Amino acid sequence: MQHKLSPYYGITNKCIVQNGYNRSAIYNLETGQHWFIDNKWETVFNELPLIDTKKLLKSRPDLTENELVEFLFSFVNEGVIRIIDEPLKSNYERIELNSDHSLKLKHLSITFRSELEMGIYAFLKLNPTEHLILSIGAINNETFPFLNTLTEDLVEKITLIIEPLIIEEDFLFELISQNPMIRAIYIDEQSPIKNQKIGFCEFKLKDRITRAGQPEIYINFDQFNGSSQYHTYFHKRVHIMANGDITHSHDSNRVFGNINDENFNEIIRSNSFQSIWKVKKNEIDVCNHCEFAPVCQDKRPLIRRSDGTWYSEIECEYNPYISKEKKDENYLSLEECGISSTPRGFRIGISAYLAAKAHIIGKEKRALRPYKG
Ligand code: SF4
Repeated sequence: MQHKLSPYYGITNKCIVQNGYNRSAIYNLETGQHWFIDNKWETVFNELPLIDTKKLLKSRPDLTENELVEFLFSFVNEGVIRIIDEPLKSNYERIELNSDHSLKLKHLSITFRSELEMGIYAFLKLNPTEHLILSIGAINNETFPFLNTLTEDLVEKITLIIEPLIIEEDFLFELISQNPMIRAIYIDEQSPIKNQKIGFCEFKLKDRITRAGQPEIYINFDQFNGSSQYHTYFHKRVHIMANGDITHSHDSNRVFGNINDENFNEIIRSNSFQSIWKVKKNEIDVCNHCEFAPVCQDKRPLIRRSDGTWYSEIECEYNPYISKEKKDENYLSLEECGISSTPRGFRIGISAYLAAKAHIIGKEKRALRPYKG
């Protein structure tokens, strides 16, 4: 059926468009749906919140009216775009960003030893935390009462990271049923029998912990709000090691002080500690070219260059320059695509990049139509 092109369209205020180097994405932050579009279509959204079709066709002689109406109509059907009769400001209000000004810690992780029990309790009294992550090693009946002393005014939810060998499933069920604050139990990946136990946990519990380098995607308003203002993984996150050393997270190497010798609040309020809390995606190499930037939670350690830009020594498992994950067929690393991100700076070797793209395109032909993620 032939559709008629309307003069104006607007994107609904629950959807955002994110431009990536190789393709773009549209996210519905309310339903969690997402669509990828070829960058050929990205200019359609350049003038957001209003799409003025007459102006657009004039600026894009390569686009026919039929192509444009078909493209727009597919997204009207998905509830992403709506037809606007008059270009009034009230027709296309944008998403409001909320800032998180509270001082409450979001994620406190602790490498646990039983002699720390009282210390943790006292610590949480002074520093209430939303999410407490305890790397317990081995859990047993002695640990159980300690967990029950943690009340909701001190901590909202608890994740346990434990070793599998001595754990009985019945014991875990009992632990979960006795303490509703425990939302996730993660079995240490090093174990040779991890699969049996992880299978149980994933079935029973919602949260997961993934490998460094593997991003987690959350399509919702909170994630979007956060990613434009601060680092969505490191913001308000602190790790206390078994010897009291303070780092950003359990897998960070850089130590900022020791809780036994220095004041905890002074350490975490210092500029050097805080700087990573505020890193935005557009300041990080590669992420600043990625269509997943506003919905991705990235755990890789970051390093700051003297010019204020950031990079990671661990390559993300997604390569936005070719829109492929490591597990995908025809995946190439950043280096194979001519991309270098080093202490000296960031660079795209255009000829190597074009050769890599040509190599992939030669192997697969993708239609320039929107497709569902
Ligand atoms: S490059 Fe990786 S870590 Fe960075 S935004 Fe994209 S998916 Fe996330």
